[in-house]
Amino acid sequence: MNALPTALALSDQSVGSLAPPDLRPDLTGLTPAALAALMPTEGQPSLVRGKALWRWLRTVSALPTALPATLPEAGKDALATLASKVRLPDVTITDRIASRDGTLKWRLSCRGLPVETVLIPTPTRATVCVSSQSGCTRYCDFCATATMGFLGALTAGEIVAQVLIARQASPVPVTNVVFMGMGEPLDNLDAVLTAIDVLEHGLNLSPRHVTVSTSGVLPKLERLWSESRAAVALSLHATTQPLRDRLMPRVRRWSLDDLVAFMRQASAAEPSSKSGGRHFFIEYTLIDGVNDHDADADRLVALLDGVRARVNLIPYNPSTVTTYRRPAPERVRAFQRRILDQGLICLVRETRGDDTAAACGQLATRPDVVSSMA
Ligand code: SAH
Repeated sequence: MNALPTALALSDQSVGSLAPPDLRPDLTGLTPAALAALMPTEGQPSLVRGKALWRWLRTVSALPTALPATLPEAGKDALATLASKVRLPDVTITDRIASRDGTLKWRLSCRGLPVETVLIPTPTRATVCVSSQSGCTRYCDFCATATMGFLGALTAGEIVAQVLIARQASPVPVTNVVFMGMGEPLDNLDAVLTAIDVLEHGLNLSPRHVTVSTSGVLPKLERLWSESRAAVALSLHATTQPLRDRLMPRVRRWSLDDLVAFMRQASAAEPSSKSGGRHFFIEYTLIDGVNDHDADADRLVALLDGVRARVNLIPYNPSTVTTYRRPAPERVRAFQRRILDQGLICLVRETRGDDTAAACGQLATRPDVVSSMA
């Protein structure tokens, strides 16, 4: 009985000191169909208008700060109705840092929250690495992002806005998106699933070209696998429970055994690769003297028995806020060879952008982390 008066008293105090939150959805977090539903023609949503808005969003050279006054397919009235129902994403570029290898990193402010996005181009196509949170909820011991703490979850529109910004600067077509920037995507799964939908229908990026990487939030992993066709990457990094608990203390409630049991059962239920069946990408960050022994490689192969898996080795990217080291190149190659020889697909991920702290695990929005790496 006391709860209501207390709540009222609190909200009374804030009257006048805080603007009411703007609860309208971000324009960039809405699919063409969702946009169409917000500007019906005589009661009937017209997909043509929603598609026209996305065509416009694909061609603008910067994140728009206002809707166009009119489009050939959508007149003034429809756009004015839409303008009252959506907001433009509150995303601004605070810095843009070019790496020697062509990788570009943006520091963004999303509603005041610091976020980083990375464009990784090859000569013919590019991948955008997006953040799903400002900071991260999962504090892995070896990851620089963990030093920021968790500052907030991003909206679907803010995630898609990162792809738009990177696309606008990319010298080659953006064909892939990876959720491997700041944050644990599965702790913001609704926004991530909506963003994947918008990337597909607004930016014509197939979910199969989108990869969601997770530290292993098992119940959400099951949901991601069943509700989306996106590629799934599991950050494993350890083959024994004690080591994983040390490296990734905030996901210890989902054991290695349970994670692997899920992947085994999901693998068995998938059709063959030829018929479009998926596999799991296993991310394994190689840390000198910690998880890079021959015995780790052997345990990794044994653990993944029955899982349709492709292993990606990530040689550790050092930063000023951690003391872990990258193994020598010969050790990385020997570890890879040992896995390949036992019949598993295993690639070493090329390090990109590490001179600007844009590589995996280096995104921390701390000037000291960047300058010391440059
Ligand atoms: N939170 C998600 C998304 C991060 S993706 C996840 O854990 O999967 C970034 C990948 O880089 C993860 O596999 C992460 O564990 C790994 N990583 C973190 N710090 C790293 C570092 N310093 N060097 C190499 N890889 C790192």
